[in-house]
Amino acid sequence: MVARKELRSSIVQEEKLPDVCSVKIELGDVSGIVADSLLFCFEIIKPGNSLRNAELRIKKIPFVLFCNKCKIETTNTFGIRMCDACKEFDTKIVSGTEMIITEIELK
Ligand SMILES: [Zn+2]
Repeated sequence: MVARKELRSSIVQEEKLPDVCSVKIELGDVSGIVADSLLFCFEIIKPGNSLRNAELRIKKIPFVLFCNKCKIETTNTFGIRMCDACKEFDTKIVSGTEMIITEIELK
């Protein structure tokens, strides 16, 4: 653990990275990543590097399906690929499984 922290600090110093103001992430509802856990881990890695004053902003993205039978988009909170209107499983995932860093704002 100590070695990892030292490695991380030396990389930041060598690269002379500017301070980060904020990091924006789009996080799908069924991405498998818990937003609160991500925020907790972000706070742990901040001290001693360019993230020290950074804020992590998470935009949650709903789980949306396109039904090939109904030709409509539906959603469900359980992450099951079943159309909420006709209960068919012939669907395509439109959104909700992603984790995308959309912006890193530097000083
Ligand atoms: Zn349908």
